[in-house]
Amino acid sequence: MPDAAAHLPFFYGSISRSEAEEYLKLAGMSDGLFLLRQCLRNLGGYVLSMVFNLQFYHYPIERQMNGTYAIAGGKPHCGPEELCEFYSKDADGLCCTLRKPCNRPSSIDPQPGVFDSMRENMVREYVRQTWKLEGDALEQAIISQAPQVEKLIATTAHERMAWYHSNISRDEAERRLYAGAQPDGKFLLRERKENGTYALSLIYGKTVYHYRIDQDKAGKYSIPEGTKFDTLWQLVEYLKLKPDGLIYYLKETCPNPSARAQRRLASLNADGYTPEPIPMDTSVYESPYSDPEELKDKKLFLKRDHLMIDEVELGSGNFGCVKKGVYKMRKKQIDVAIKVLKSNNEKGVKDEMMSEAHIMHQLDNPYIVRMIGVCEAESLMLVMEMASGGPLNKFLSSRKDEIPVSNVVELMQQVAIGMKYLEDKNFVHRDLAARNVLLVNQHYAKISDFGLSKALAADDSYYKARTAGKWPLKWYAPECILFHKFSSKSDVWSYGITMWEAFTYGQKPYKKMKGPEVISFIEQGKRMDSPPDCPPEMYKLMNQCWTY
Ligand code: ADP
Ligand code: MG
Repeated sequence: MPDAAAHLPFFYGSISRSEAEEYLKLAGMSDGLFLLRQCLRNLGGYVLSMVFNLQFYHYPIERQMNGTYAIAGGKPHCGPEELCEFYSKDADGLCCTLRKPCNRPSSIDPQPGVFDSMRENMVREYVRQTWKLEGDALEQAIISQAPQVEKLIATTAHERMAWYHSNISRDEAERRLYAGAQPDGKFLLRERKENGTYALSLIYGKTVYHYRIDQDKAGKYSIPEGTKFDTLWQLVEYLKLKPDGLIYYLKETCPNPSARAQRRLASLNADGYTPEPIPMDTSVYESPYSDPEELKDKKLFLKRDHLMIDEVELGSGNFGCVKKGVYKMRKKQIDVAIKVLKSNNEKGVKDEMMSEAHIMHQLDNPYIVRMIGVCEAESLMLVMEMASGGPLNKFLSSRKDEIPVSNVVELMQQVAIGMKYLEDKNFVHRDLAARNVLLVNQHYAKISDFGLSKALAADDSYYKARTAGKWPLKWYAPECILFHKFSSKSDVWSYGITMWEAFTYGQKPYKKMKGPEVISFIEQGKRMDSPPDCPPEMYKLMNQCWTY
């Protein structure tokens, strides 16, 4: 989660006022010389430090709840960069316009601030407590869900936290704190019955102290005379780092015995719009076999009478078609997609489908379509988890206007997580393309179609195809086409093409060029142009994927 200003050369991160003044002095103290630094008091805020008439001026920039940034009394802007851009043209109440950025010396990176790690801890704790994840699963969830979780945290996150005890009385709070060990800094937060305000109760030296939490007119929370925060959650995280007026800092959670019961699915946005569930809250985040009861029945071949096949076709290909269905497990029924092999097919195609099944059988990741099993009946069938949103390219091209580019970034990040998993397991996909990324919903993508995939032998770093087949040349790295060599590196190349498809909202790569023309285009060192409105960081990344 980089800072919104991290890319600005005149952003210094978390430096003090006097350090800022030192830098401005070193840079010559000309009128309109300016730099940007992180605000130490306000989460997500900045301070603009500048010079006029040999004097220093420091303007706090606040981040509002709706995500915009503004200097007190000034106009809101969508980011710190846009704000600086604006004040470089119009002083609008500042001492003068921003004229010359005081850039960081090239040897110095922005100073990471206490809030950076706090934000990360908040997301980490939230994901851990809400979905009870640990280890790799926790790390993956954090990476893929940080933007959504940050949004949730902004509003109702405290309700999910173990330290939140809803509306218990002062006496009950004391009873809970005195129960068991009583280390300094053991705390809980509760809602006060009187008027919907909150209080913090804290043990120090075997005594419980209670602090009222004030809320100002703008809705910000603070301990009387303390730092103000947009959310209770931020207040608690901050007080874990420094006492800020309390007798001691918050150290140990006094857990609410009924906190588990408060788990909710997606929370409501302020405008009452219900967002789609985030990946962890869907039924396909974990394998249906993650339930030990269901695992008992796990076999590669499924019983035909547990499978109900709908007439609805989800898609089709050379092999036959993909149908919708329901598979009956021990405790639950799950929606499935069934790849049905065309009847009386030659043997080769059947082998191919079995090879696809054997690959999928070994994979288990939230961002990869899972196989439930194979069923041999009226024809050979591959039974998979359902991803009802369909292929990414179609999804994006049909809903261009509704889907912001940040949503595309989010989905491509999930694809990256799935591909990293594949690489770690030593598999090459060989057919990564937007058509083979399926959506569970607008915010949840899974990699599918393992028809061309291969498991690499333990000591091999690539797979060598004996003969070329019906290959998706536009998605292939030069070494695939020239030497038939396939590796995780060539999957990275395909990932770049998939990114390009995604950021163009489902256009065809290399326009009308034919496969062989694409090869000479690449050999000449040329690459596709940036999709319109594609964030430059994303275009840079796809070009890196296309490193020869
Ligand atoms: P092919 O090897 O022919 O490309 P795919 O595995 O890509 O076959 O599947 C073809 C189509 O079937 C997909 O584009 C999609 O529309 C549909 N489909 C495949 N798997 C699923 C699934 N798990 N959930 C929903 N639809 C699916
Ligand atoms: Mg496909």
